[in-house]
Amino acid sequence: MAKSDEICTFCGRNSRDVNMLINGLSGAICDDCVQQAYEIVQEQAALAHKNPFGLNQHELPKPEDIKSFLDQYVIGQDDAKRYLSVSVYNHYKRLLQKITTDDVEIEKSNIIMVGATGTGKTLLARTIAKLLQVPFSIVDATVLTEAGYVGEDIESILTRLLQAADYDVEAAQRGIVFIDEIDKIARKSDNPSITRDVSGEGVQQGLLKLLEGSIVNVPPQGGRKHPEQKMIAVDTKNILFICGGAFDGIEKKIAQRLNTRVVGYAANKESNLVDRNNLLQYITPTDLKSFGLIPEIIGRLPILTYLNPLDRKTLRSILTEPKNSIIKQYIKLFEMDEIQLTFDEDVFEFIVDKALEFKLGARGLRSIVEAIMMEAMYSMPSQSKKMLHVTLTYAQDKFEKSDRNRLLIA
Ligand code: ADP
Repeated sequence: MAKSDEICTFCGRNSRDVNMLINGLSGAICDDCVQQAYEIVQEQAALAHKNPFGLNQHELPKPEDIKSFLDQYVIGQDDAKRYLSVSVYNHYKRLLQKITTDDVEIEKSNIIMVGATGTGKTLLARTIAKLLQVPFSIVDATVLTEAGYVGEDIESILTRLLQAADYDVEAAQRGIVFIDEIDKIARKSDNPSITRDVSGEGVQQGLLKLLEGSIVNVPPQGGRKHPEQKMIAVDTKNILFICGGAFDGIEKKIAQRLNTRVVGYAANKESNLVDRNNLLQYITPTDLKSFGLIPEIIGRLPILTYLNPLDRKTLRSILTEPKNSIIKQYIKLFEMDEIQLTFDEDVFEFIVDKALEFKLGARGLRSIVEAIMMEAMYSMPSQSKKMLHVTLTYAQDKFEKSDRNRLLIA
């Protein structure tokens, strides 16, 4: 602490006029100046954080780097990761290209991922956004409707992004939007002459504008509840759109297409190579069209990739391997109460069995672990016991006693 006649080297105020003066080797600083200096440091750090344009070509994370990053959080799905890594890398290059002057303009590589629910589509998009440190938002295509119907307007997709960017329009304009359940706005029939299907096509037309890049007037509060709100103009040219959908039943269309091609000797050979258990890997834009996406939308989502169904081995890995795996999260939670939490290997097998039995996929893993750990999480923090070793018998017992009906709605 300072003596009463000392002053702050930064603002010059006397120690009597400030709350606190901290002495250094050759000066002193008051609490106000410390606060201000802290804010400046924070601001600068945030600026450095936000600016991918600060990168030069050599500093760009290469596709292999991007994939390694994804590997830390997402198990398997190698094809999807590769496609994503390349298109994100190209997206970066495209943003950088604006700085140089050149006649060749690189087009945006929006992405569409097809895969059953709970296989990691959202997780992949979220992880990419974490790497890029750009504003990220998730919207559900099912809530979108054409103007005049109940629901949200297409523009509201960008409201969320603006909010994620703290209304910093510049930052939002190079963010990532994940549009989930894109399959829900598909036309119900491949036949364009069907006129009664109002749900899908109009929304797809609206979406087209956003995907191809245009200036859109966005209601900052979203919805129609605030008619007085002033619109914010957002240019979508550099926003990367990643769409995801389960496209239930698309396997049938893929199978049909593969069959129609298999005529004659050469084709027979081909049909032998088809892996019937995972037809999604053969998906092409034609199948999306058969499913009911309009060709213009498909054209604006040039990167098409798929996710594999999660098998037992993958589920087992998801439980413990990712950087923030479910089990690591529980160990951490207990650690905060200074309790050492350990598991027998067969407990993990049991959890995976239950997830498969209840057909809950990866999403169910967490609910099952939660059911097993609930009692300990409730009582142990107020006990003196500092260790919990979860055996198979313990896990089975707690799971049996839990309200398993709740799992089914997980
Ligand atoms: P989707 O968007 O395909 O419906 P999500 O990405 O939301 O599925 O996945 C649901 C949850 O399941 C994730 O939060 C994650 O915990 C887990 N999960 C799913 N797939 C994977 C995977 N391949 N690797 C790691 N975790 C996964």
